[in-house]
Amino acid sequence: MFVPKYRKRMIFGHLRRQIGAMLRELWVQHDIELVEGHAGGFTDEIGAIVPGGAASGILPPTALDAPLTRYGLRGYGAGPGSAALQVFPGSYSPLRLLAETMRFFAEESCQKCTPCRIGNRALHHLCEELVRGEAAMPREKIDEWLLAMEKTSICGLGQASPFPVRNAMRWWPELFEPLD
Ligand code: SF4
Repeated sequence: MFVPKYRKRMIFGHLRRQIGAMLRELWVQHDIELVEGHAGGFTDEIGAIVPGGAASGILPPTALDAPLTRYGLRGYGAGPGSAALQVFPGSYSPLRLLAETMRFFAEESCQKCTPCRIGNRALHHLCEELVRGEAAMPREKIDEWLLAMEKTSICGLGQASPFPVRNAMRWWPELFEPLD
């Protein structure tokens, strides 16, 4: 089986140098090496990263130490996705990041199947309510929605959109305390 040695990468966000062009990097290179080697390092404290597109995951800064591979990010419950690394400052709440991510999925849904059509809207609403310190639904209901979306959505958008929700609940559990 052919295994690619290189992959194109793009980095943007909270960086000293913005890298708009695609970079050709070693497939196994760590995110931190890309950031420090090509983007000049960070401008401030890092709050969260998105390793490769909206559905790839929302992860804590420690994930920058992981190899940029499916296996390297598996322990974080994420994947390399499109390889477009986004770096967010500590001043930007992971909950706001998640809310905007779910807004994106709700708007991108083609509305064909119910789990994706309703689920992404519901999860976006959930995040906006959490920002206000309120719980739009109990945690068990959220778990039901996440599972239904993963298992019964027709295409990858609905199947993958629960990933960043699961990541945020895992890495920033304090943001979800209103659900308890
Ligand atoms: S999962 Fe795919 S097919 Fe179903 S509504 Fe979402 S985008 Fe459309």
